[in-house]
Order: sequence, then C-alpha cells, then structure tokens
Amino acid sequence: MILAGLLYRCTSRKPGESAKSAEEIAQVQDQDKELRPISDSDKPAADYMPTSIDKIDEAYSAGKISPDQFARLEIAAVYSPDKLPADYRGAEEKIASPDYIYGFIHTTWPTFSQEAKDALLPFLLPPDDPQSYFYTEADSRSILEKLSSAAAAKAAPADTWIHITPWDGLRISYRKADETRDFQPAAWAADTAQIAISKYRALLGLAGGKVHIYLTDPAKVGANYGDAVMSTKEANLCDIRIKGGMDERLTRSTAAHEIFHAFQFFMGLDYSIPEVAWLSEATATWSEDFVHKKHQTEHDYDPAFMDHTVWDLLDRRNLHHYGSYLWFYFLTQKFGPEQVAWTLARSKGGDARKTLSEMQDFPENFKHFVYWNWNWPPFEVYKDEPNPPNFEEVHPARGSTKELVVKAPGTYGERVELATASSKYVYIRFPDRSPRRIEFDNSEFMPIKSLNQATRALQAFYKVGSTWYYEDWSSLEKRTFCRDIEEENVSVVVVVPSNSSLYLKTGGTIKLKADNKCHPGWRGAIHVRWRMDQNQNPQGTWRVSEQGGYTITEELEFNPANDSLDIKSTAFTAVYSSSEIIQGKATDCTPYEAHGANIRGAASYEYSADNTSDHRRPSRFYGTDVREPGKLGGTYSLQLSLPDPPVGAPPPLRGSSWTKKLVRNCTFLSDLPDFSANIDAVYPISDPTIYSVNPEDVVIDPKAKRIKGSAQFEIHSGVFGTVEWFFQKIE
Ligand SMILES: [Zn+2]
Repeated sequence: MILAGLLYRCTSRKPGESAKSAEEIAQVQDQDKELRPISDSDKPAADYMPTSIDKIDEAYSAGKISPDQFARLEIAAVYSPDKLPADYRGAEEKIASPDYIYGFIHTTWPTFSQEAKDALLPFLLPPDDPQSYFYTEADSRSILEKLSSAAAAKAAPADTWIHITPWDGLRISYRKADETRDFQPAAWAADTAQIAISKYRALLGLAGGKVHIYLTDPAKVGANYGDAVMSTKEANLCDIRIKGGMDERLTRSTAAHEIFHAFQFFMGLDYSIPEVAWLSEATATWSEDFVHKKHQTEHDYDPAFMDHTVWDLLDRRNLHHYGSYLWFYFLTQKFGPEQVAWTLARSKGGDARKTLSEMQDFPENFKHFVYWNWNWPPFEVYKDEPNPPNFEEVHPARGSTKELVVKAPGTYGERVELATASSKYVYIRFPDRSPRRIEFDNSEFMPIKSLNQATRALQAFYKVGSTWYYEDWSSLEKRTFCRDIEEENVSVVVVVPSNSSLYLKTGGTIKLKADNKCHPGWRGAIHVRWRMDQNQNPQGTWRVSEQGGYTITEELEFNPANDSLDIKSTAFTAVYSSSEIIQGKATDCTPYEAHGANIRGAASYEYSADNTSDHRRPSRFYGTDVREPGKLGGTYSLQLSLPDPPVGAPPPLRGSSWTKKLVRNCTFLSDLPDFSANIDAVYPISDPTIYSVNPEDVVIDPKAKRIKGSAQFEIHSGVFGTVEWFFQKIE
C-alpha cells in the first residue's frame, strides 16, 4: 500500500527548456574540500592515548579492582588526577561530565564498604551541604585525601543560598556570595530546565522526579561542565551540579544534558552495565540538540566519533560514547525521536547492544548511517535546524579513512579490518592519466552467498570531473571504469566497507585491477537520480523524504539485422528510500507514526549473441526510422529501464517497507510509557517496477563515436529527477 504512490509517469522536457546538467549542479561545490579528510589522515592514525578513566575502566573490566576501588579511583581521576597512583595516570582527560561514575555509584552503593561510603559521600551531597566536597568552604584537600585514607573532613561554616523554584519539584540554587557570577547562569538553567523537563516528559511519557540544580564553585568541579547524582537524602530527587560562571551556550546545554541523565535515573537505567553507560552519554549528548538546536554543543563531540568509525559503535574510549550521539541523531531524523525513547525503555535494566540488535532492519539502517556519515555534497542527508544545511564539517577523518594512490597498471589490494558495528572510508585516487581501465573485484569482500552477506556492506562514492556519484556495491561482484570515456574518468573512488554485526568482527580486502587499455566496442552508462525533502511543518512534526536512483554501466554491440544496439554485458546498482514521519505536538498525546521503504540491489549479466538462446541480448537502442539498412544511424528509442534478469535469475532488487507507531499514555502520570502499544513492522518487497523511466528518442549520427544526452522527469506529483546517458565507441 505504501508503494502505490511510488508508481510514476515520466514527462518529457519541454522544447527550449534545458535540463540542469549534473555539472551545473555540482559547480556550487568547493572542488577539493571533500578530499580534506585525507590530508588530515596524514597525521598519525594512532592518535588514541588512553586517559586515566580508560585505564581505570580497563582494570575494572579485567577484574583487577573491586567496584568500590573502581568508584574511588574514577572520582579521584575526575577531581584530582595528579593524586592517582602512577599506573592509572593517563593522557589529559577531556571528559565533560562524570555522570557515568555517579550512575555506577548509585547502582552499586549497597555493595560498598563503610569506608568507601564515607570517602564517597562528600561527592554525593548537594553543594549547599557543609559536608559536601562542592561546598565552597569545605576542606577539599582532606576530602580528596579521604578517597585513599580514613582522615576525617573538617566541617565547614554555614553559607547562604538563593533558590529559584519555577514549580514544585524543580529548584535552581546559587550561592549568595557568588550572585554576581551565577545570577545570570541560574536564570538560563531555570529556563532550560522548564523547556527540557516538558520535552522529556512528553518524549518518555514519564512524569519524572524532583530536580535540584546547583551552580557550583568552578574550582571544585575542575574541567567538567556538570554532573547528575541521585540524592542520598531523599527518594526520587536528582541533584545536578553545573559549573558556575559559564556562558549561556554551555550553561544551557549542560542543564539539558544533566536533566536528561536525571530522567535516565527516574527511568531506572542501570549504569553499571557498560553498554548502558554508552547509551546514557550518547543519548544525553543527543538531548542537547533535542532541547536547544541553536547552541550546537553536540557538534563539539563529532570528531570523537568521526575520527574512529572503525571502532565498535559502542566503544567508550576517548569520548566515543558522546560522539555516538550521531547514531541517535540519525534515528531521530529518519524515524523520529521516539526511537530514542524506545531504545532507552528497552535497555534500562538490560543490554543496549541487545536492544540495537533487536531493532527492526538494524543492518539496513546501519548501512544508511554509514552513508549519511560521509556527509559531502550532494549526498548530505543530515539536517540541522533552524538553519539547514548547517551540519557542515562533520565527516569521517583521520583513523576512519585510508588512502591508496594508483598511478600505474597492476593489481592492488587494501586489507580492511572491521570491528563490530563499524565502517571505513578507503579513498582510492587516480591522479594521473594512467591507468585507463579499472576493475574493482568485490568478490572477496562481498562473497555473494557468504554467511556475512546480511551484515557486511560495500558502498562507494566516486568523482568524475566535479560530480560525485554514489552506488551500493554490496551485491555487485565487479565494477569497471573506462577512463578513456570522459564521463567515466574517475579521479577518486571512496570505497566504504561496513560491518553491521553487533557481535562479530569481520574483514576483507578491497581489490582492484588497473590496465592501460579499455575493451573495444560501444561502452557507456545511464544515471537516473531523484530526490525530495519536505518539512511540512516548521515544528518538524511532519517530514517527508524520498530519494532514489540507479546506474547502469554496459557494453553494447550493433545488431544490423534488428537495427539496434544490444546489450553484451551490463552491471547496475539501484537504491531507493522513502520515509514519512507524522508526530503530534510535544504537549499532547497524539500518536506518533512513521513509515517508509528501502529498496536496494545490484547485478551484472552477460548476454549471448545467439538470438535463439534464453540469454539472448536485450536491446538498449531500437531503430525507429531506418535510413540506411544494416548501418547504425537514424532515430532510436533509448530504453532507460534496468535490464530484465536472464531467465531463471533471481530478482535483483530487494527491500522492505516499514511502519512504526507509538501510542503514548496521555496522562504522563504513570511511571513508564506504554511501549506495548509500539507497532514495529517490516514487510519484504521485491517489486522493481518503481524504477521504470519512460524511453527517450535519440538521433544517432552514422559517423558518431558518441551518444550523449540528458532529460528531466517527474516520478510522481512534485518529485523530479534527472536522467543522463552517454555511450562511446572505443577503438
Ligand atoms: Zn553525561
């Protein structure tokens, strides 16, 4: 039923109306900037140095330290790294908030020794408690020493605090003595808190608990922006500390981030599970955008992910879990923010990795994520409000990329190791005139019938002149380019292998053969592309997008008996995706609904010249007004459709349509959203007819060595595409 709207008719270009060529469209692009990640990657790829937190994490994972030793070492790493034992001193810590440690302490507290509890308690108490480490007059040194000794902290004198109480259960406090510094940040935090809590309640269908926010002495919190910790004094109260005196951008985004952690506590997320720790930071960083789009603080963490796409998606080294907000950003733009709520609700007492693996169509969606992450024009899919497109400067770089320069004939191979849920961007450059023919052999990386077929993917971006093209090579064993033909004269091919398995790593070799001569005969390609993006409502409550296209590369031979150019061999790749997201307002209980479709496929066929066989050649051009029988020339009808598979071959295109629905509890008074009302369905589809484009009439000059043209067409109402074709006779 979803596909019904996709059947389209083709409209020819009106006389005098010129089709906008791909070159014109591409000219707006900066010529070489997409190559910049390569020059960045010239810096050492091994730019990862374990931090103190990484070293303590590793010791704990290896069972070398107990949970309370782990908690005390991590707290020491945050507030006094210079006092850590030498074994745990690492590279400079960049951690923005030690939320994960507080989550861990909250969950594991009952198992701690009394001595550990005494040492940790000052870090859990709110900053207005004279026993708190964060209390300005408190004796920090003796409290820090107590992390490793039993020395008692001295009690501090009382102080005066100012409280703002926007509503019952939300309080923002700052020290009277720091009024000049913290009056304005407290007002920003109060405003953000009200926006954030309303949004989180609606998203999570959860009323939440009490939130107390303290603007805290910067000297106490060190390099961190803030943290969130469940109160030891009162049930269902989360104390949040935000570094005093920060600017509006950091104060507001820290408030949004920490209040999201408060809601994770209210949901009952178990932070002692490493995958949940990953999930908690990835989604809290995502929430900074969800609450305040304009501050763009989430982008501070882009390199933490984009420099390490070869790491497991759930890796937590070097702030990779903060950078992994991109996964939730992707899910939000593709399916709506309810996917974040769904992931949190299903993972709270369990395992985020398992939840991801249970997401419908995870392998296909991970492949799309890898495609979105490349993010160079014209393949930018991420949007960022309120000023799209401003998702700039976010690209795979450094360790995520690899460069291979090919200047001479020969056989080349690039071995790629892929961790679980990872990807790599291999830039293969052809800076010189040689070689002329390039044949990619994908059979080793993507063995068509291998067990890994479902989770391995191979995508490619390539540049000819100033135009970039995209193809999905996942089920294409061979792809050739003849650089004698202007339109196939690739200068760079970015091959992107990825692994969507969350449990098994993999690897393979990207192989290519370079020669100095193309095969003689007619050779060329047809490119068909269309795209539509509409945000029907400025509040982002209805988003419709659709994109698709295919590339056919083939060798043709003139058939005098039939006055046609017939297909000797063909290789094609096709992609299509659509989505429609319909959401109610954040404040009401209108159900959320999203649906769409994904179709992909590729194939290559060789046809027999024997017209009596089952594998006889189909025609690409049919003569319609023969002037000189037996010779090429005149008016021909150019067929723009994908070639039919030979008799008995399986349908080359496969895909699915999906529907997601979430009916929320209207009252927000229950403790948890009713996710049993979540409908998540995927239907397999294999109808390739959506790719048909009507034939075009083409006049071929008998002496011509080239056939070239382009046209625009309409897929269905309001959705336009372009078709380009070129064929050349190679001597
Ligand atoms: Zn955090």
